[in-house]
Amino acid sequence: MSTEVKAYGTASADAPLQEIKINRRALQAHDVEFEILYCGICHSDLHQIKNDFGGTLFPIVPGHEIVGRVTAIGDHVKNFKIGDLAAVGCIVDSCGNCEYCEDGIEQFCDEGVTFSFNSEDKISGGHTLGGFSKTYVCHEKYVLKMPPFKDLAAAAPLLCAGITVYSPLKHWQAGPGKKVGILGIGGLGHLAIKIAKAMGAEVVVFTTSPSKVEDAKRLGADEAVLSSDAETMAKYARQLHFIIDTVSAKHDVNVYLNLLRHDGTVVLVGLPPEPLEVASFNVVIGRRSFAGSNIGGIAETQEMLDFCFEHNITAESEIISIQQVNHAFERLEKGDVKYRFVIDMASL
Ligand code: NAP
Ligand code: ZN
Repeated sequence: MSTEVKAYGTASADAPLQEIKINRRALQAHDVEFEILYCGICHSDLHQIKNDFGGTLFPIVPGHEIVGRVTAIGDHVKNFKIGDLAAVGCIVDSCGNCEYCEDGIEQFCDEGVTFSFNSEDKISGGHTLGGFSKTYVCHEKYVLKMPPFKDLAAAAPLLCAGITVYSPLKHWQAGPGKKVGILGIGGLGHLAIKIAKAMGAEVVVFTTSPSKVEDAKRLGADEAVLSSDAETMAKYARQLHFIIDTVSAKHDVNVYLNLLRHDGTVVLVGLPPEPLEVASFNVVIGRRSFAGSNIGGIAETQEMLDFCFEHNITAESEIISIQQVNHAFERLEKGDVKYRFVIDMASL
């Protein structure tokens, strides 16, 4: 029998989130149930509740940076026991058989990956409901082992923001001798600074916010540039090996393509709802690339958690109660957060 639990959600893009009741499925043989302790707030939650991309499945319960403690396990669960820490990020199901799943990049599953919220739920029907809730139930294959971070709340944002920047940093080989640009210092961007530095890269940050220039250095950046300062920007022309672009709204990527060395790449992870324009000469000259990257697979997410634990990397977090969540979304929309809201789910 399914279990009814409290959650926070909304039935339309115009209405605020409020307390609702949802059902979590009865445990299947390989399912893990955990009580949610903390859940981060990602800009993707905001895009989806506002229906920025169209196709949001209402009623929506957002939340995909989920950390908790196991409360029940199915009969065949091998990797978790009651009382263990557990975490779920973006992925909760995939076909398991296609070449992408076999390669551990379930996010690109041929049959369509199931995200932790706002996805067709192929097991229970309807759509998946995220971490702004009391509990989560998921096949153990998609449950991460949460290392014993001292500050578990601050580690929650690693489940999406962390893996979304770790994966391209690794893929494009951030490390000693590489000069990496980070564009936009929000939830993703500030973790990208810390992770790229831990990988040994030289890090240059580009921000629209004067208040973040000095702060970026505190976070570990070697250099930080206000992108409206044309004179300083010009000094970075043809300097960078690659740039991670985390900007959530429409912006001119050509400015940044011109900061790349030959064979350099701008990797878009931000999801501006509108198309972005690339001027032909900015990629043709210098054989540059404009690429994208989408979260990371389960094995790589576990690797990232272990890497961040080893390097003492967590998010700079502002802890809120679930009752403050609508105000937090208003602030996130204005860029008024340094650098991630995390909900203490005991407040629900
Ligand atoms: P966030 O905390 O709001 O940070 C976004 C940052 O972008 C802001 O802090 C700001 O940085 C900059 N920015 C915002 N509006 C801008 C504008 N109009 N022009 C220039 N810069 C602007 O958001 P987040 O949670 O880090 O997420 C960032 C984006 O990544 C979102 O679109 C989100 O949906 C997407 N995302 C993608 C994936 C994926 O797998 N690809 C995963 C997670 C999130 P400054 O103040 O420093 O300029
Ligand atoms: Zn996210």
